[in-house]
Amino acid sequence: MKINNICCLGAGYVGGPTMSIIAQKNPDIKVNVVDMNADKILAWNSKDLDNLPVYEPGLSKVVKEARGRNLFFSTDVNKHIEEADMIFISVNTPTKTSGKGKGYAADLKYVDACAKQIAEVSKSNKIIVEKSTVPVRTSEKIKDILTSYNTNVDFQILSNPEFLAEGTAMRDLEIPDRVLIGGDNTIEGKKAIDSLVEIYSSWVPKKNILTTNLWSSELSKLTANAFLAQRISSINSLSELCEETGADIEEVSKAIGMDSRIGKNFLKTSVGFGGSCFQKDILNLVYISRSLGLKKVADYWEQILIINEHQRDRFSKKIIKCIKNRNLKPKVLILGWAFKKNTNDTRESAAIYVANNLLNKGISIEIYDPQVKENQVNFDLSNLNPDYNKSLVNFVFEPFQNISDYNIIAIMTEWD
Ligand code: ADP
Repeated sequence: MKINNICCLGAGYVGGPTMSIIAQKNPDIKVNVVDMNADKILAWNSKDLDNLPVYEPGLSKVVKEARGRNLFFSTDVNKHIEEADMIFISVNTPTKTSGKGKGYAADLKYVDACAKQIAEVSKSNKIIVEKSTVPVRTSEKIKDILTSYNTNVDFQILSNPEFLAEGTAMRDLEIPDRVLIGGDNTIEGKKAIDSLVEIYSSWVPKKNILTTNLWSSELSKLTANAFLAQRISSINSLSELCEETGADIEEVSKAIGMDSRIGKNFLKTSVGFGGSCFQKDILNLVYISRSLGLKKVADYWEQILIINEHQRDRFSKKIIKCIKNRNLKPKVLILGWAFKKNTNDTRESAAIYVANNLLNKGISIEIYDPQVKENQVNFDLSNLNPDYNKSLVNFVFEPFQNISDYNIIAIMTEWD
């Protein structure tokens, strides 16, 4: 089936960039990206391309080319669901903060709400694509919701997890290592898979498009993130050993990375990984394993998170100790608030946790980041600790002007 009209629910870090590329590469397909957050849609439609809600190198150029041609941003969710042949679900799936699975399981309330809304509005057959990272077997749940609210039309569910890395999203979308599409092993399921394969084939070589069953696709996403995070925690755990022994972690990292079986990527030591995915996906993996009674498997993967937290705490303690031992003025300049360079995303950034640890000790902090706005910093700090001491926090715009005034500078993000 040839797709003519796509609707994407969710105009965030995944939906925005992904749909921009799909629209750019398929000028004959109309792509409507919808979000219930009106401010976000306004910003996506803004003339000022430097102020899109998502910062990614190269994104504004693609938006400029496709927006108004076949790429549209709107708050009219129902209208665009109804018009679409294919609907992507790209809404947030944060870790649950209450109820069963609290602190571990993904909160699927936004995904569930989308499924219900799609079911209620649809008058023609549709292919539903889960783009958000979801636990294994979510597609089954989406299908249950769709069919319980609407028995008049046929829904095919596909899983098409996003593997883009923030900061290099446009390049990753343009030249993906692979595109993964999971679907039902039925005639209708295969037809649905083919129609999504066709969309990606506009720019991705067929050999890089992998098709699997639904659950393999869902689990592959969690596994990929768990493996990546594992490399960071592995190297970070050894950084502590290096500091105790005089070995240099950079040298160790280079030496092992030259082994072609290991490879050199993701072996850079840091204050700990952040971002919306690694922690959430591992928590999901741990939760699923534990629910299935696989305690040893759950404990194994959870250790990656324990090391990540330990690394952040260790870094904070070093600063606190240094201030105390050398009797320094309790003030630290924090360079970089985003969880990595070339993004304005701060979710789970190590900077938030370190800043909180310092504030708890009465140390004042000054913060600079080239892409993060002051209100985001306030949001992140109060989200972690509603009672944080605002008077100790100062956002600076020209940190390098008085750089010699600082005794301690913490480089939290590897911005160039
Ligand atoms: P991600 O990194 O997964 O893209 P974001 O939080 O950046 O996550 O984006 C998810 C977006 O989905 C948010 O802008 C949110 O407003 C939107 N959203 C959540 N639920 C719905 C819904 N039912 N309909 C439309 N948009 C939704």
